Amino acid sequence: MIDAGKPGTVGMARIRDHWRHWASSRRQQASLASSLLDGFPGVAMLVDADGIILSVNPGFEHYSGHPAHTMLGRRVTCLDVDPLHGDIRRALACCMARRSPWRGVLLCRRADGQEIHQQGVFQPLETRPGEALRLLVTLHDITELHQGALHDHALLASLQGTLDRLPGVVFQLRQSARGDLEFRYFSAGLQALAGLSSQTVMDSAETLLGRVHDDDRQRLSTVLAQSAVSLTPWTLEFRLALGDDVRWIEGRATPLRQRDGDTLWDGVLLDITARKGEEQRTQKLVSTDMLTGVLNRRAFFDYGEAVRALAARHGRAVPLAMLDIDHFKQLNDTHGHAAGDLALQAFATTCRDCLRPYDLFARIGGEEFAVMLVDTSPEEAWSVLERLRAAVEAIALDVHGEILDVTVSLGLAVMPPQGSLELALSQADGALYRAKHEGRNRLVPAPGYPEPQERAR
Ligand code: GH3
Ligand code: MG
Ligand code: MG
Repeated sequence: MIDAGKPGTVGMARIRDHWRHWASSRRQQASLASSLLDGFPGVAMLVDADGIILSVNPGFEHYSGHPAHTMLGRRVTCLDVDPLHGDIRRALACCMARRSPWRGVLLCRRADGQEIHQQGVFQPLETRPGEALRLLVTLHDITELHQGALHDHALLASLQGTLDRLPGVVFQLRQSARGDLEFRYFSAGLQALAGLSSQTVMDSAETLLGRVHDDDRQRLSTVLAQSAVSLTPWTLEFRLALGDDVRWIEGRATPLRQRDGDTLWDGVLLDITARKGEEQRTQKLVSTDMLTGVLNRRAFFDYGEAVRALAARHGRAVPLAMLDIDHFKQLNDTHGHAAGDLALQAFATTCRDCLRPYDLFARIGGEEFAVMLVDTSPEEAWSVLERLRAAVEAIALDVHGEILDVTVSLGLAVMPPQGSLELALSQADGALYRAKHEGRNRLVPAPGYPEPQERAR
């Protein structure tokens, strides 16, 4: 500490030492500051409170393109692309008003006219009493970085546009280790597909999953569970119930296990309603008898096999019958083939009306039909078919003013839970033969079929 009150020899020496030390430390600091600015890879300059350039670093000319001596005494705003209203003017005003550093991106113009993006810092320097305020302004060229970011942004926007224009919906679904499902991404096509915004479904997966048709929800859960375990892609056709509208959707996705145990699927959803409609129309065409509109022989055996398999699984017997129109040749011969066709149509419609929609009823030959009664006991089957026989007997077909009667003979058998469809049909056929033999227009059970009195009990 300097003892100013006693300026003896020792005291003066101390003052001198102290002064030398201070001066040397100032010189060191000034030299350090100067070498820092000299090495700064950009523009560095000192400006006064009005933005007048007082001094610049050696890099100034290289980075701004302006010779240093032409810029001293000019306003720093002349480096801006818009010297009157540009970013530099705002930065300067902001820094002066707050007396605190300003940092930000500035769009400047080099001497050759090229526009460059600069990372700018306006730093007020410390002042002593009576000293004018000065700012250290540094500008660092970030044009390449900025163009890179612009390029990335444009690429992302273009990818987003492509995703949104795809004829389908791209999604990312995440399942937590606990099994919770969350959509992480949905492209904009979701609005057209399901009438829902991507954000709504990302906020709550249930807004979409809750619309999966009741009959398909379990299948969707199963494919997701299997895919999460085996880490193999899944494909599923399912329905979305959208108000009164039902849409068929095809979903495909590939799983990826995350480090935290979550499963992430990247996938697409496609609206296949039109294709499904076409498939169903084609299926109906190949499975329908053209004359009567009921199932054809091939469909009867296809669907019949499915009914048999289901009944076998549930341990149920299935009653089935063979039907053959009586004296049909005679009807054709007497009234003509066209009248025979009308009779076949009236017969098929009458039978269909006596059965439930899910019973199988098919034309398996010229005037031969077969019926399989789903979820029906032998007792019920007997009464259903007896009612059917009576309904056919009641047909009064008007052909050119002449009334034609139609009757049918039926042979009834029962397919046991583990029995074969062919065997049961041949037993029904045997019973039908007996019905013809016993006088036609009757229902005859195959051997072993519960007797009428047993049925009554
Ligand atoms: P049954 O009482 O013993 O059954 O005698 P049926 O005359 O009905 O039996 P049959 O097998 O002798 O004759 C069947 C006739 O059905 C012969 C055939 O011309 C006729 N038929 C088969 N398919 C059609 C068809 O699509 N349209 C018409 N109009 N007739 C058909
Ligand atoms: Mg016949
Ligand atoms: Mg016949």
